[in-house]
Amino acid sequence: MCIFRSIGVTKGKCLEYNYVGHGYSREFEINMAKIKAALDGGGAFTLVTGRDDVCAACPFDHGGVCETEEKVARYDNRVIDMLGLKPGETYRYTGLSDAVREKIFDGGKLSDVCGDCEWHELRESVIDGRK
Ligand code: SF4
Repeated sequence: MCIFRSIGVTKGKCLEYNYVGHGYSREFEINMAKIKAALDGGGAFTLVTGRDDVCAACPFDHGGVCETEEKVARYDNRVIDMLGLKPGETYRYTGLSDAVREKIFDGGKLSDVCGDCEWHELRESVIDGRK
């Protein structure tokens, strides 16, 4: 069963392992928590680059256009390359989260993917705290 229309690779990476409930706004956090709960419960999703269901409650989404589109596309493409994923394919979240953990977090590649993200230091500290 496909619960969500879509989720992007960058958000898939952020949801895995190091999402601790912080976001751009309260509305964004509530939407992100709902998506994470459904995905953790075995939800399938279609992998997209660009705008996805997480963007729906984001203050940086302006009528379907992301304020930080270039940066997000760059992160998406790096994760796709590292994990060998295909946009448009349907995946189970557990498979994606295992791959993210092994190849990006445990492989020490997080800085290569999103070292210039405003949340990067928080993510590194959460990951260090869980080792
Ligand atoms: S609108 Fe941009 S910043 Fe907001 S969740 Fe979507 S991709 Fe991320």
